[in-house]
Amino acid sequence: MACMNKHCMRYGIITLVLLTIGLVPSLGASAQQKRYTVLIDPAHGGAETGVVSDKLREKDLTMNLALLIRQEAKQKANFDVQLTRSDDRAVTVAERRKAAAVLKPDCLLSLHVNAGFGKKASGYEVYFPGFQQTIVGGNESAAILKDMEKNKYLNDSVRLAQAIQTGLESVFPRQGRGLRDAPSPLLDGLTMPGVIVEIGFATHQEDRKKLTDESVQRAVARALVADLWKYFQKMP
Ligand SMILES: [Zn+2]
Repeated sequence: MACMNKHCMRYGIITLVLLTIGLVPSLGASAQQKRYTVLIDPAHGGAETGVVSDKLREKDLTMNLALLIRQEAKQKANFDVQLTRSDDRAVTVAERRKAAAVLKPDCLLSLHVNAGFGKKASGYEVYFPGFQQTIVGGNESAAILKDMEKNKYLNDSVRLAQAIQTGLESVFPRQGRGLRDAPSPLLDGLTMPGVIVEIGFATHQEDRKKLTDESVQRAVARALVADLWKYFQKMP
């Protein structure tokens, strides 16, 4: 039977106040413990080898790096790494985009290895999705809102690209080839920040030597995890 006298009511109010006070710090703690999810995309796989040069196959290197990133990220609390593939299999761009759309990660990082521009080209490049998309027609305010949302992802992508560029400098000093803005079938139109890293040139002898060295791979993975973490900590 419910207690309805004055004493009980006062007791109830005090309990409510205490509960409320008790809740405040725990809410604060949970806000600080936001989990971040990164979708790592090891490019190529299966019959699609990507760049092959000497013993380096792009699909193997991107896979190794992705697994190392996942391993390194385990040392950070509240940091989840998911992969678009975790073994040597072919995954289409549409399937990778679908994985991103379903998971809704805080950001997407696609790993590639570069080739070409002559045998002298070397170093790493970071790409973010281009500015080329424009919204035409339709409900004007909806279009503006969509545009603002798109710009937010673009700004975040640029910020992420900058963080990664700075972080990789610690592994490959003076090897950065700059941030590049380019259309990407993987990233364009996705509702999340995303960047593509071309980690080095398979066609450059020194780059190839470094990239196939497991200790360098681990250093790259560690740097990328630190960069992602820094990017999340500075999130508005
Ligand atoms: Zn590639």
